[in-house]
Amino acid sequence: MRNNKQENGPDLKPLSTSKEWKLLYYQHGRPGLEEGKKFKGLCNYCDLKSLCGLPKPEIGVWRCEHYRAKIWKKSGLHENVLRLLEKAQEINNFDRDICKIMAETMNELVVHFPVKMDDGHIKMLTGYRVQHNNVLGPFKGGLRFHPMVDIDEIRALATMMTWKTAIVNIPFGGAKGGIHIDPSEFSPKELEKITRRFTFALGNNIGPDYDIPAPDVNTNPQIMAWIQDTYMSTIAPNERNRCIHVVTGKPIESGGSVGREKATGQGVVFLIEKWAEDHGFSLKGATYIVQGFGNVGSWAGRLMKMNGSKLIAVEDVTGAIKNEEGIDPDYLAMYVKEHGGVVNYPKAQAINHEIFFSTKADIFIPAALENAITRNTAELLNVKLVAEGANGPTDEEGDKILQRKKIHVIPDILCNSGGVIVSYFEWLQNKRSEFWELDEIDNKLKKIIVSAYERVRNTAVKHKIDWRTAAQIVAMSRLEMVYKERGIFP
Ligand code: NAD
Repeated sequence: MRNNKQENGPDLKPLSTSKEWKLLYYQHGRPGLEEGKKFKGLCNYCDLKSLCGLPKPEIGVWRCEHYRAKIWKKSGLHENVLRLLEKAQEINNFDRDICKIMAETMNELVVHFPVKMDDGHIKMLTGYRVQHNNVLGPFKGGLRFHPMVDIDEIRALATMMTWKTAIVNIPFGGAKGGIHIDPSEFSPKELEKITRRFTFALGNNIGPDYDIPAPDVNTNPQIMAWIQDTYMSTIAPNERNRCIHVVTGKPIESGGSVGREKATGQGVVFLIEKWAEDHGFSLKGATYIVQGFGNVGSWAGRLMKMNGSKLIAVEDVTGAIKNEEGIDPDYLAMYVKEHGGVVNYPKAQAINHEIFFSTKADIFIPAALENAITRNTAELLNVKLVAEGANGPTDEEGDKILQRKKIHVIPDILCNSGGVIVSYFEWLQNKRSEFWELDEIDNKLKKIIVSAYERVRNTAVKHKIDWRTAAQIVAMSRLEMVYKERGIFP
Protein backbone atom coordinates (compact mmCIF):
# COMPACT_ATOMS: atom_id res chain seq x y z
CA MET A 1 0.00 0.00 0.00
CA ARG A 2 1.20 3.47 -0.86
CA ASN A 3 2.71 5.48 1.97
CA ASN A 4 0.60 8.61 1.85
CA LYS A 5 2.50 10.29 4.62
CA GLN A 6 5.72 10.21 2.68
CA GLU A 7 4.33 11.10 -0.71
CA ASN A 8 1.37 13.29 0.01
CA GLY A 9 2.15 15.09 3.23
CA PRO A 10 0.00 14.36 6.27
CA ASP A 11 -1.29 10.84 6.74
CA LEU A 12 -4.56 10.08 4.94
CA LYS A 13 -6.78 7.85 7.02
CA PRO A 14 -8.77 5.10 5.34
CA LEU A 15 -12.24 6.21 4.27
CA SER A 16 -14.93 5.70 6.81
CA THR A 17 -18.34 4.58 5.64
CA SER A 18 -19.91 6.18 8.68
CA LYS A 19 -22.42 8.95 8.11
CA GLU A 20 -20.57 10.85 10.79
CA TRP A 21 -17.98 12.04 8.34
CA LYS A 22 -14.90 13.76 9.59
CA LEU A 23 -14.61 17.04 7.77
CA LEU A 24 -11.89 19.51 7.20
CA TYR A 25 -12.65 23.15 7.13
CA TYR A 26 -11.27 24.73 4.01
CA GLN A 27 -11.89 28.38 4.52
CA HIS A 28 -13.55 30.17 1.61
CA GLY A 29 -11.99 27.68 -0.77
CA ARG A 30 -8.59 29.30 -0.26
CA PRO A 31 -5.63 27.09 -1.16
CA GLY A 32 -4.05 25.22 1.70
CA LEU A 33 -5.83 22.91 4.06
CA GLU A 34 -5.98 23.89 7.66
CA GLU A 35 -4.50 20.91 9.40
CA GLY A 36 -5.88 20.03 12.78
CA LYS A 37 -9.13 21.95 12.35
CA LYS A 38 -11.53 19.05 12.11
CA PHE A 39 -15.30 19.19 12.33
CA LYS A 40 -18.05 16.62 12.29
CA GLY A 41 -20.65 16.89 9.59
CA LEU A 42 -21.56 15.71 6.14
CA CYS A 43 -19.99 16.52 2.80
CA ASN A 44 -21.75 17.76 -0.34
CA TYR A 45 -18.74 17.63 -2.57
CA CYS A 46 -17.23 14.17 -2.70
CA ASP A 47 -18.32 11.28 -4.90
CA LEU A 48 -20.21 9.77 -1.99
CA LYS A 49 -22.94 12.37 -2.30
CA SER A 50 -25.54 9.72 -1.50
CA LEU A 51 -23.99 9.14 1.91
CA CYS A 52 -23.59 12.82 2.56
CA GLY A 53 -26.45 15.21 2.33
CA LEU A 54 -26.46 18.22 4.61
CA PRO A 55 -26.85 21.63 2.97
CA LYS A 56 -23.62 23.49 2.38
CA PRO A 57 -22.74 25.95 5.15
CA GLU A 58 -23.22 29.62 4.25
CA ILE A 59 -19.62 30.56 4.93
CA GLY A 60 -16.70 28.35 4.05
CA VAL A 61 -16.57 25.15 2.07
CA TRP A 62 -16.68 21.74 3.68
CA ARG A 63 -14.64 18.88 2.36
CA CYS A 64 -14.67 15.31 3.66
CA GLU A 65 -11.47 13.27 3.87
CA HIS A 66 -12.35 11.46 0.67
CA TYR A 67 -12.39 14.73 -1.23
CA ARG A 68 -9.26 15.82 0.54
CA ALA A 69 -7.51 12.69 -0.68
CA LYS A 70 -8.32 13.76 -4.21
CA ILE A 71 -6.94 17.22 -3.60
CA TRP A 72 -3.69 15.78 -2.33
CA LYS A 73 -3.46 13.49 -5.30
CA LYS A 74 -4.08 16.25 -7.77
CA SER A 75 -1.88 18.79 -6.10
CA GLY A 76 1.17 16.99 -7.50
CA LEU A 77 0.57 18.50 -10.93
CA HIS A 78 2.85 21.50 -10.56
CA GLU A 79 5.51 19.34 -8.99
CA ASN A 80 5.32 16.98 -12.00
CA VAL A 81 5.69 19.92 -14.37
CA LEU A 82 8.82 21.08 -12.54
CA ARG A 83 10.31 17.59 -12.41
CA LEU A 84 10.00 17.35 -16.18
CA LEU A 85 11.77 20.70 -16.52
CA GLU A 86 14.55 19.39 -14.30
CA LYS A 87 14.86 16.22 -16.39
CA ALA A 88 15.08 18.28 -19.59
CA GLN A 89 17.74 20.49 -17.99
CA GLU A 90 19.89 17.47 -17.14
CA ILE A 91 19.61 15.93 -20.59
CA ASN A 92 20.12 19.07 -22.65
CA ASN A 93 22.23 20.99 -20.15
CA PHE A 94 20.02 24.11 -20.21
CA ASP A 95 21.32 27.20 -18.43
CA ARG A 96 20.42 26.66 -14.76
CA ASP A 97 19.64 30.35 -14.20
CA ILE A 98 17.14 30.35 -17.06
CA CYS A 99 15.56 27.18 -15.68
CA LYS A 100 15.24 29.00 -12.34
CA ILE A 101 13.20 31.70 -14.09
CA MET A 102 11.06 29.15 -15.91
CA ALA A 103 10.34 27.23 -12.70
CA GLU A 104 8.48 30.23 -11.26
CA THR A 105 5.26 31.88 -12.32
CA MET A 106 5.44 35.65 -12.96
CA ASN A 107 2.08 36.72 -11.50
CA GLU A 108 -0.57 34.92 -9.48
CA LEU A 109 -3.89 36.57 -8.88
CA VAL A 110 -6.50 35.15 -6.50
CA VAL A 111 -9.80 37.03 -6.39
CA HIS A 112 -12.71 36.56 -4.00
CA PHE A 113 -15.89 38.12 -5.29
CA PRO A 114 -19.58 38.25 -4.33
CA VAL A 115 -22.37 37.17 -6.70
CA LYS A 116 -26.10 37.57 -6.10
CA MET A 117 -27.88 34.25 -6.68
CA ASP A 118 -31.35 33.89 -8.23
CA ASP A 119 -32.97 33.61 -4.79
CA GLY A 120 -31.36 36.89 -3.73
CA HIS A 121 -28.66 35.54 -1.40
CA ILE A 122 -24.99 36.43 -1.88
CA LYS A 123 -22.36 33.79 -2.58
CA MET A 124 -18.63 34.44 -2.19
CA LEU A 125 -16.60 32.76 -4.95
CA THR A 126 -12.89 32.35 -5.63
CA GLY A 127 -11.20 32.73 -9.01
CA TYR A 128 -7.61 32.50 -10.19
CA ARG A 129 -5.46 33.84 -13.01
CA VAL A 130 -1.84 32.74 -13.09
CA GLN A 131 0.53 34.30 -15.64
CA HIS A 132 3.56 32.09 -15.99
CA ASN A 133 5.72 33.81 -18.59
CA ASN A 134 5.38 36.38 -21.40
CA VAL A 135 8.84 36.48 -22.91
CA LEU A 136 7.50 35.18 -26.24
CA GLY A 137 4.38 37.35 -26.34
CA PRO A 138 1.16 38.19 -24.45
CA PHE A 139 0.02 35.72 -21.80
CA LYS A 140 -2.40 33.19 -23.27
CA GLY A 141 -4.42 30.38 -21.74
CA GLY A 142 -7.82 28.95 -20.95
CA LEU A 143 -10.27 29.49 -18.11
CA ARG A 144 -11.92 26.53 -16.43
CA PHE A 145 -14.92 26.35 -14.12
CA HIS A 146 -14.58 23.28 -11.93
CA PRO A 147 -14.87 22.31 -8.23
CA MET A 148 -11.30 20.93 -8.29
CA VAL A 149 -9.76 24.21 -9.50
CA ASP A 150 -7.04 25.36 -7.10
CA ILE A 151 -3.84 27.34 -7.25
CA ASP A 152 -1.60 24.29 -7.79
CA GLU A 153 -3.59 23.16 -10.80
CA ILE A 154 -3.77 26.62 -12.37
CA ARG A 155 -0.06 27.23 -11.74
CA ALA A 156 0.82 23.95 -13.44
CA LEU A 157 -1.50 24.54 -16.40
CA ALA A 158 -0.19 28.11 -16.86
CA THR A 159 3.37 26.79 -16.98
CA MET A 160 2.38 24.13 -19.50
CA MET A 161 0.88 26.86 -21.70
CA THR A 162 4.30 28.52 -21.93
CA TRP A 163 5.80 25.22 -23.11
CA LYS A 164 2.95 24.72 -25.58
CA THR A 165 3.24 28.09 -27.32
CA ALA A 166 7.04 27.69 -27.42
CA ILE A 167 6.85 24.23 -29.04
CA VAL A 168 4.58 25.39 -31.84
CA ASN A 169 6.45 28.65 -32.32
CA ILE A 170 3.63 31.14 -31.85
CA PRO A 171 4.17 34.54 -30.22
CA PHE A 172 2.32 33.98 -26.96
CA GLY A 173 3.32 33.32 -23.39
CA GLY A 174 1.56 31.07 -20.90
CA ALA A 175 -1.31 31.68 -18.47
CA LYS A 176 -4.33 29.87 -17.06
CA GLY A 177 -7.29 30.73 -14.90
CA GLY A 178 -10.40 29.35 -13.39
CA ILE A 179 -13.18 29.59 -10.85
CA HIS A 180 -13.60 27.11 -8.05
CA ILE A 181 -17.25 26.16 -8.77
CA ASP A 182 -19.34 23.27 -9.98
CA PRO A 183 -21.18 25.00 -12.84
CA SER A 184 -23.97 22.42 -12.77
CA GLU A 185 -25.11 23.93 -9.46
CA PHE A 186 -25.92 27.30 -11.05
CA SER A 187 -28.63 28.59 -13.37
CA PRO A 188 -27.55 30.11 -16.73
CA LYS A 189 -28.33 33.57 -15.33
CA GLU A 190 -26.14 32.90 -12.29
CA LEU A 191 -23.32 31.59 -14.51
CA GLU A 192 -23.48 34.78 -16.53
CA LYS A 193 -23.26 36.90 -13.36
CA ILE A 194 -20.36 34.78 -12.04
CA THR A 195 -18.48 35.17 -15.33
CA ARG A 196 -19.04 38.90 -15.53
CA ARG A 197 -18.17 39.52 -11.88
CA PHE A 198 -14.99 37.44 -12.21
CA THR A 199 -14.01 39.40 -15.35
CA PHE A 200 -14.62 42.65 -13.48
CA ALA A 201 -12.48 41.39 -10.59
CA LEU A 202 -9.64 40.56 -13.01
CA GLY A 203 -9.84 44.14 -14.36
CA ASN A 204 -6.90 45.11 -16.50
CA ASN A 205 -4.94 42.03 -15.44
CA ILE A 206 -6.31 40.67 -18.71
CA GLY A 207 -6.30 42.58 -22.00
CA PRO A 208 -6.14 42.03 -25.79
CA ASP A 209 -2.39 42.58 -25.99
CA TYR A 210 -1.54 41.52 -22.46
CA ASP A 211 -3.38 38.36 -21.35
CA ILE A 212 -6.00 36.65 -23.51
CA PRO A 213 -8.25 33.95 -21.99
CA ALA A 214 -9.96 31.17 -23.98
CA PRO A 215 -12.34 28.26 -23.27
CA ASP A 216 -11.28 25.22 -21.26
CA VAL A 217 -13.13 22.70 -19.07
CA ASN A 218 -16.77 23.76 -18.58
CA THR A 219 -16.34 27.08 -20.39
CA ASN A 220 -17.45 27.76 -23.94
CA PRO A 221 -17.94 30.47 -26.62
CA GLN A 222 -20.92 31.94 -24.72
CA ILE A 223 -18.79 32.44 -21.62
CA MET A 224 -16.08 34.05 -23.77
CA ALA A 225 -18.72 36.45 -25.21
CA TRP A 226 -19.72 37.48 -21.66
CA ILE A 227 -16.08 38.10 -20.76
CA GLN A 228 -15.55 40.09 -23.96
CA ASP A 229 -18.65 42.20 -23.34
CA THR A 230 -17.81 42.86 -19.68
CA TYR A 231 -14.22 43.78 -20.48
CA MET A 232 -15.24 46.04 -23.37
CA SER A 233 -17.85 47.74 -21.17
CA THR A 234 -15.09 48.92 -18.84
CA ILE A 235 -13.11 50.54 -21.70
CA ALA A 236 -13.60 54.08 -23.00
CA PRO A 237 -16.22 54.00 -25.81
CA ASN A 238 -13.79 55.10 -28.53
CA GLU A 239 -11.38 52.25 -27.63
CA ARG A 240 -13.91 49.43 -27.28
CA ASN A 241 -13.76 48.00 -30.76
CA ARG A 242 -10.01 47.70 -30.56
CA CYS A 243 -10.48 45.18 -27.77
CA ILE A 244 -12.58 42.41 -29.29
CA HIS A 245 -9.54 40.12 -29.16
CA VAL A 246 -9.46 40.20 -25.34
CA VAL A 247 -10.63 36.58 -25.56
CA THR A 248 -10.42 33.87 -28.22
CA GLY A 249 -12.84 31.00 -28.73
CA LYS A 250 -15.66 33.56 -29.05
CA PRO A 251 -18.83 32.90 -31.05
CA ILE A 252 -18.18 33.65 -34.75
CA GLU A 253 -20.66 36.56 -34.74
CA SER A 254 -18.72 38.22 -31.91
CA GLY A 255 -15.41 37.98 -33.74
CA GLY A 256 -14.62 34.29 -33.32
CA SER A 257 -12.84 32.25 -35.95
CA VAL A 258 -14.21 29.43 -38.03
CA GLY A 259 -12.44 26.23 -37.06
CA ARG A 260 -11.70 27.32 -33.47
CA GLU A 261 -14.34 25.14 -31.86
CA LYS A 262 -12.94 21.95 -33.38
CA ALA A 263 -9.31 23.15 -33.37
CA THR A 264 -7.96 21.18 -30.41
CA GLY A 265 -9.60 17.94 -31.57
CA GLN A 266 -8.50 18.67 -35.13
CA GLY A 267 -4.90 19.10 -33.98
CA VAL A 268 -5.06 15.79 -32.08
CA VAL A 269 -6.30 14.03 -35.23
CA PHE A 270 -3.69 15.67 -37.51
CA LEU A 271 -1.02 14.27 -35.17
CA ILE A 272 -2.58 10.81 -34.99
CA GLU A 273 -2.58 10.82 -38.81
CA LYS A 274 1.07 11.87 -38.87
CA TRP A 275 1.98 9.19 -36.30
CA ALA A 276 0.12 6.57 -38.38
CA GLU A 277 1.95 7.69 -41.53
CA ASP A 278 5.32 7.50 -39.73
CA HIS A 279 4.56 3.99 -38.46
CA GLY A 280 2.99 2.62 -41.65
CA PHE A 281 -0.20 2.12 -39.65
CA SER A 282 -3.58 2.25 -41.38
CA LEU A 283 -6.24 4.27 -39.57
CA LYS A 284 -8.96 2.70 -41.71
CA GLY A 285 -10.65 0.17 -39.44
CA ALA A 286 -8.41 1.10 -36.49
CA THR A 287 -10.20 1.19 -33.13
CA TYR A 288 -10.09 4.01 -30.59
CA ILE A 289 -11.45 4.88 -27.16
CA VAL A 290 -12.01 8.38 -25.79
CA GLN A 291 -12.18 9.69 -22.24
CA GLY A 292 -14.13 12.98 -22.01
CA PHE A 293 -16.67 13.78 -24.69
CA GLY A 294 -16.77 17.56 -24.36
CA ASN A 295 -15.17 19.98 -26.78
CA VAL A 296 -11.85 18.18 -27.31
CA GLY A 297 -13.01 14.57 -26.98
CA SER A 298 -16.11 14.87 -29.16
CA TRP A 299 -14.30 16.71 -31.96
CA ALA A 300 -11.35 14.34 -31.93
CA GLY A 301 -13.81 11.43 -31.87
CA ARG A 302 -15.84 12.80 -34.77
CA LEU A 303 -12.83 13.65 -36.91
CA MET A 304 -11.31 10.19 -36.41
CA LYS A 305 -14.45 8.76 -37.99
CA MET A 306 -13.49 10.53 -41.21
CA ASN A 307 -10.39 8.31 -41.36
CA GLY A 308 -12.60 5.23 -41.24
CA SER A 309 -11.57 4.46 -37.64
CA LYS A 310 -14.03 2.90 -35.18
CA LEU A 311 -14.92 4.37 -31.78
CA ILE A 312 -15.60 1.47 -29.41
CA ALA A 313 -15.67 2.93 -25.87
CA VAL A 314 -16.20 6.33 -24.25
CA GLU A 315 -16.04 7.52 -20.66
CA ASP A 316 -17.14 10.85 -19.25
CA VAL A 317 -18.10 12.21 -15.86
CA THR A 318 -21.54 10.52 -16.09
CA GLY A 319 -20.25 6.99 -16.80
CA ALA A 320 -18.72 4.77 -19.48
CA ILE A 321 -20.12 2.93 -22.52
CA LYS A 322 -18.81 0.34 -24.95
CA ASN A 323 -19.83 -1.24 -28.24
CA GLU A 324 -17.33 -3.42 -30.15
CA GLU A 325 -19.43 -2.90 -33.30
CA GLY A 326 -18.74 0.82 -33.11
CA ILE A 327 -20.30 3.93 -31.59
CA ASP A 328 -21.20 6.71 -34.02
CA PRO A 329 -19.39 9.77 -32.63
CA ASP A 330 -21.72 12.21 -34.42
CA TYR A 331 -24.83 10.68 -32.87
CA LEU A 332 -23.10 10.41 -29.52
CA ALA A 333 -22.13 14.10 -29.64
CA MET A 334 -25.79 15.02 -30.28
CA TYR A 335 -26.91 12.69 -27.47
CA VAL A 336 -24.40 14.24 -25.03
CA LYS A 337 -25.59 17.76 -25.92
CA GLU A 338 -29.14 16.76 -25.13
CA HIS A 339 -28.58 14.55 -22.07
CA GLY A 340 -25.46 16.08 -20.53
CA GLY A 341 -23.31 12.94 -20.78
CA VAL A 342 -22.83 9.48 -22.29
CA VAL A 343 -24.74 7.62 -19.57
CA ASN A 344 -27.74 5.61 -20.85
CA TYR A 345 -26.71 6.05 -24.50
CA PRO A 346 -29.03 3.50 -26.11
CA LYS A 347 -26.69 1.97 -28.71
CA ALA A 348 -23.97 0.75 -26.31
CA GLN A 349 -23.55 -1.18 -23.07
CA ALA A 350 -22.81 0.55 -19.79
CA ILE A 351 -19.39 -0.45 -18.44
CA ASN A 352 -17.33 0.54 -15.42
CA HIS A 353 -14.10 2.56 -15.22
CA GLU A 354 -11.87 -0.55 -15.12
CA ILE A 355 -13.51 -2.14 -18.16
CA PHE A 356 -13.22 1.17 -20.04
CA PHE A 357 -9.47 1.31 -19.38
CA SER A 358 -9.01 -2.39 -20.21
CA THR A 359 -10.73 -2.11 -23.60
CA LYS A 360 -8.36 -3.37 -26.30
CA ALA A 361 -8.04 -0.68 -28.98
CA ASP A 362 -5.37 0.86 -31.20
CA ILE A 363 -5.61 4.41 -29.90
CA PHE A 364 -6.63 6.05 -26.63
CA ILE A 365 -7.52 9.76 -26.58
CA PRO A 366 -7.72 11.06 -22.99
CA ALA A 367 -9.67 14.34 -23.27
CA ALA A 368 -11.00 14.94 -19.76
CA LEU A 369 -8.99 16.01 -16.73
CA GLU A 370 -5.48 15.54 -15.37
CA ASN A 371 -4.19 12.38 -13.68
CA ALA A 372 -6.46 9.95 -15.54
CA ILE A 373 -3.61 7.60 -16.49
CA THR A 374 -2.13 6.51 -13.19
CA ARG A 375 -0.29 3.49 -11.84
CA ASN A 376 -3.59 1.56 -11.82
CA THR A 377 -5.14 2.61 -15.10
CA ALA A 378 -1.88 2.51 -17.10
CA GLU A 379 -1.53 -1.16 -16.16
CA LEU A 380 -4.99 -1.81 -17.62
CA LEU A 381 -4.44 0.03 -20.92
CA ASN A 382 -4.21 -2.18 -24.00
CA VAL A 383 -3.50 0.30 -26.82
CA LYS A 384 -0.64 1.20 -29.18
CA LEU A 385 -0.89 4.98 -28.93
CA VAL A 386 -2.03 7.51 -26.33
CA ALA A 387 -2.80 10.90 -27.94
CA GLU A 388 -3.16 13.33 -25.03
CA GLY A 389 -6.03 15.69 -25.82
CA ALA A 390 -6.29 16.70 -22.15
CA ASN A 391 -3.68 18.64 -20.20
CA GLY A 392 -1.71 16.50 -17.75
CA PRO A 393 -3.77 13.31 -18.22
CA THR A 394 -0.82 11.07 -17.28
CA ASP A 395 0.84 11.19 -13.88
CA GLU A 396 4.50 10.27 -13.35
CA GLU A 397 3.87 6.67 -12.32
CA GLY A 398 1.42 6.19 -15.18
CA ASP A 399 3.98 7.57 -17.61
CA LYS A 400 6.67 5.12 -16.49
CA ILE A 401 4.24 2.25 -17.01
CA LEU A 402 3.33 3.45 -20.51
CA GLN A 403 7.05 3.56 -21.34
CA ARG A 404 7.61 0.09 -19.92
CA LYS A 405 4.67 -1.24 -21.93
CA LYS A 406 6.08 0.53 -25.03
CA ILE A 407 2.85 2.41 -25.58
CA HIS A 408 3.65 5.42 -27.72
CA VAL A 409 2.59 8.82 -26.33
CA ILE A 410 1.98 12.10 -28.17
CA PRO A 411 2.38 14.35 -25.13
CA ASP A 412 -0.21 16.95 -24.12
CA ILE A 413 1.84 20.11 -24.72
CA LEU A 414 2.23 19.06 -28.35
CA CYS A 415 -0.92 17.01 -28.90
CA ASN A 416 -3.54 19.53 -27.74
CA SER A 417 -1.79 22.64 -29.08
CA GLY A 418 -4.29 22.96 -31.97
CA GLY A 419 -6.55 25.07 -29.74
CA VAL A 420 -3.98 27.74 -28.99
CA ILE A 421 -2.75 27.74 -32.61
CA VAL A 422 -6.21 28.58 -33.94
CA SER A 423 -6.70 31.02 -31.05
CA TYR A 424 -3.64 32.78 -32.44
CA PHE A 425 -5.30 32.85 -35.89
CA GLU A 426 -8.47 34.30 -34.32
CA TRP A 427 -6.43 36.96 -32.52
CA LEU A 428 -4.61 37.87 -35.74
CA GLN A 429 -7.86 38.09 -37.73
CA ASN A 430 -9.34 40.41 -35.06
CA LYS A 431 -6.25 42.63 -35.05
CA ARG A 432 -6.22 42.91 -38.84
CA SER A 433 -10.01 42.99 -39.33
CA GLU A 434 -9.74 39.93 -41.55
CA PHE A 435 -11.83 36.81 -41.97
CA TRP A 436 -10.06 33.60 -42.99
CA GLU A 437 -11.80 30.63 -44.63
CA LEU A 438 -11.87 27.21 -42.94
CA ASP A 439 -9.55 25.64 -45.54
CA GLU A 440 -6.94 28.28 -44.88
CA ILE A 441 -7.23 27.79 -41.10
CA ASP A 442 -6.98 23.99 -41.33
CA ASN A 443 -4.01 24.10 -43.72
CA LYS A 444 -2.10 26.55 -41.55
CA LEU A 445 -2.91 24.56 -38.39
CA LYS A 446 -1.72 21.33 -39.97
CA LYS A 447 1.52 22.87 -41.17
CA ILE A 448 2.37 24.35 -37.75
CA ILE A 449 1.39 21.34 -35.63
CA VAL A 450 3.04 18.77 -37.91
CA SER A 451 6.32 20.69 -37.99
CA ALA A 452 6.23 20.86 -34.16
CA TYR A 453 5.66 17.08 -34.16
CA GLU A 454 8.74 16.64 -36.35
CA ARG A 455 10.86 18.78 -34.02
CA VAL A 456 9.75 16.68 -31.05
CA ARG A 457 10.27 13.38 -32.90
CA ASN A 458 13.76 14.41 -34.07
CA THR A 459 14.72 15.51 -30.55
CA ALA A 460 13.49 12.19 -29.13
CA VAL A 461 15.56 10.28 -31.69
CA LYS A 462 18.65 12.46 -31.17
CA HIS A 463 18.70 12.03 -27.38
CA LYS A 464 17.11 8.54 -27.37
CA ILE A 465 14.45 9.75 -24.95
CA ASP A 466 10.69 9.62 -24.54
CA TRP A 467 8.55 12.15 -26.41
CA ARG A 468 7.33 13.94 -23.28
CA THR A 469 10.86 14.88 -22.32
CA ALA A 470 11.67 15.65 -25.96
CA ALA A 471 8.71 18.06 -26.15
CA GLN A 472 9.97 19.79 -23.00
CA ILE A 473 13.44 20.14 -24.55
CA VAL A 474 12.03 21.66 -27.75
CA ALA A 475 10.05 24.22 -25.72
CA MET A 476 12.94 25.07 -23.39
CA SER A 477 15.38 25.44 -26.27
CA ARG A 478 13.32 28.25 -27.73
CA LEU A 479 12.78 29.97 -24.40
CA GLU A 480 16.46 29.68 -23.47
CA MET A 481 17.50 31.19 -26.79
CA VAL A 482 15.22 34.20 -26.29
CA TYR A 483 16.43 34.79 -22.72
CA LYS A 484 20.06 34.53 -23.86
CA GLU A 485 19.52 37.00 -26.70
CA ARG A 486 17.73 39.56 -24.55
CA GLY A 487 19.53 39.13 -21.24
CA ILE A 488 18.06 39.92 -17.86
CA PHE A 489 17.05 43.52 -17.13
CA PRO A 490 18.74 45.65 -15.79
P1 NAD B 1 -15.17 20.15 -21.65
O1 NAD B 1 -15.68 20.75 -20.41
O2 NAD B 1 -15.79 20.53 -22.95
O3 NAD B 1 -15.21 18.55 -21.54
C1 NAD B 1 -14.67 17.87 -20.46
C2 NAD B 1 -15.08 16.41 -20.57
O4 NAD B 1 -14.42 15.67 -19.56
C3 NAD B 1 -16.58 16.19 -20.38
O5 NAD B 1 -17.05 15.21 -21.30
C4 NAD B 1 -16.66 15.64 -18.97
O6 NAD B 1 -17.81 14.80 -18.75
C5 NAD B 1 -15.38 14.85 -18.91
N1 NAD B 1 -14.94 14.58 -17.54
C6 NAD B 1 -14.85 15.44 -16.51
N2 NAD B 1 -14.46 14.81 -15.39
C7 NAD B 1 -14.30 13.50 -15.73
C8 NAD B 1 -13.93 12.35 -15.01
N3 NAD B 1 -13.63 12.42 -13.72
N4 NAD B 1 -13.87 11.17 -15.68
C9 NAD B 1 -14.18 11.09 -17.00
N5 NAD B 1 -14.54 12.17 -17.73
C10 NAD B 1 -14.61 13.35 -17.10
O7 NAD B 1 -13.60 20.47 -21.65
P2 NAD B 1 -12.60 20.49 -22.89
O8 NAD B 1 -12.47 21.90 -23.34
O9 NAD B 1 -12.96 19.45 -23.86
O10 NAD B 1 -11.23 20.13 -22.17
C11 NAD B 1 -10.85 18.77 -21.94
C12 NAD B 1 -9.36 18.72 -21.69
O11 NAD B 1 -8.68 19.25 -22.83
C13 NAD B 1 -8.86 19.54 -20.51
O12 NAD B 1 -7.75 18.90 -19.94
C14 NAD B 1 -8.42 20.85 -21.14
O13 NAD B 1 -7.48 21.55 -20.37
C15 NAD B 1 -7.79 20.30 -22.43
N6 NAD B 1 -7.69 21.30 -23.50
C16 NAD B 1 -8.77 21.96 -23.96
C17 NAD B 1 -8.62 22.86 -25.01
C18 NAD B 1 -9.81 23.57 -25.62
O14 NAD B 1 -9.61 24.22 -26.66
N7 NAD B 1 -11.00 23.46 -25.09
C19 NAD B 1 -7.35 23.13 -25.52
C20 NAD B 1 -6.25 22.42 -25.04
C21 NAD B 1 -6.44 21.51 -24.02
